[in-house]
Amino acid sequence: MTRRRVDPRADRAARTVQVGNRPRILRTPAAEGAAGRRRDPRAERRAALVRSQPRPRFDWSRDPAAAGEMPAGGPAVAIREIPLTIVAAPAFLVLAVLDRPAGEISDHDRQVVAAARVLADTGGGGVVTVATGPGEALSDTGSDRHVALPDAWTDAYSPEARADAVAALMDGLKPRHVLFPETAEGGEVARRVAAATGERLFAGVQVLSRERAARQARGGSLEMSRAPTRLMTLAADAVPPLEGVRHEARPLELPAVGTTPRLSNARRLPVDPDALPLAEADFVLSAGNGVTDWAAFAELGEVLGATRAGTRVVCDAGHLPRNRQVGASGTVVTARCYLAFGIAGAPQHLQGITAVRRVIAVNTDLHAEMIKRADLAVVADAQQVMPALIRYIRERRNA
Ligand SMILES: Cc1cc2nc3c(=O)[nH]c(=O)nc-3n(C[C@H](O)[C@H](O)[C@H](O)COP(=O)(O)OP(=O)(O)OC[C@H]3O[C@@H](n4cnc5c(N)ncnc54)[C@H](O)[C@@H]3O)c2cc1C
Repeated sequence: MTRRRVDPRADRAARTVQVGNRPRILRTPAAEGAAGRRRDPRAERRAALVRSQPRPRFDWSRDPAAAGEMPAGGPAVAIREIPLTIVAAPAFLVLAVLDRPAGEISDHDRQVVAAARVLADTGGGGVVTVATGPGEALSDTGSDRHVALPDAWTDAYSPEARADAVAALMDGLKPRHVLFPETAEGGEVARRVAAATGERLFAGVQVLSRERAARQARGGSLEMSRAPTRLMTLAADAVPPLEGVRHEARPLELPAVGTTPRLSNARRLPVDPDALPLAEADFVLSAGNGVTDWAAFAELGEVLGATRAGTRVVCDAGHLPRNRQVGASGTVVTARCYLAFGIAGAPQHLQGITAVRRVIAVNTDLHAEMIKRADLAVVADAQQVMPALIRYIRERRNA
């Protein structure tokens, strides 16, 4: 939606007519023949309506005279197309090697691409993302080129193969910088690349600009800074992800990688989700005072493979141990999914889930703060939803 800029003086002049020896200010411009016309609030409201679904939205800066131009069935909303940025012949390249856990672009991945843009943008450089999966979805992160790693590596433990692929790309593309997220996976790949190539790694960068990379050490009592090195890992939240950008993410070929696996066996082991530290859990099933069927809650946690947690109220009542409390005086969780049953959404609780990616809330109160925070809300009784969900999952698995 583009807003008309208002020039108050010109606007006033357009609405001023001389009646006798006194100027009169009309509500609509005199030039449009509105002199003497009565105001029609309904038409003005119709004219200002820019969206009717899911809730009406009005733009009061619109010209009421445009009411007649409104198409039947509601106004067409002008969606501004984000212009495509093409870096046709980059002066140099910056590689952003992403985790893309389970095929999803994480916030940390987006930050790594944004950091690569910081280094590439002054001097006409280009950003090459390296990750499993196609590049289209990375266009809005700021990727100019994309190298797709084999799909088989998406869920597999493959740091050796990834490191070999990055080393081969460094050989072929001669990037000025190579960035990784400082995560369990990205950190391991980066260290393997450093060992294989003999390049120095600056790990856990917290502040990044074209001239300087810095990080704290010794519990925050020491700051180390230097010119950005060729290999760097980026701490979470060091650089904000980009918004409102569209880059080409043009596919590039991955060179043939002659990986000789040195690990003889690597397989994932089953873990008890409730034994995981809450701060590290990926999927959290959380209960509040609205939960009374604790057997169903435990069973649902087991069926979903989710880590159980709760509000201070349920921990105080002894339904869950204290180390399961989420919130300001409990644990701050960073899960990808937070499934909340019967939680009101007090500020102290919401403080514990600010970093959660997706929130699903089940609550009988439509106006609960937790419902407002949720990406998906179910207004229903927790005691009915929990067994229904257990049944549904079991049926789907047996089908
Ligand atoms: C200094 C301080 C620190 C605090 N720290 C924390 C903290 O770290 N973490 C924390 O969680 N709290 C904390 N609190 C407490 C916090 O203020 C709230 O009291 C608490 O989070 C509320 O818990 P609740 O949502 O489970 O309970 P309630 O406020 O009782 O809400 C229950 C919700 O369940 C819904 N409900 C009821 N029946 C059903 C049903 N059958 N099905 C579905 N929904 C239903 C209700 O509509 C309501 O929204 C702190 C408070 C203070 C003062």
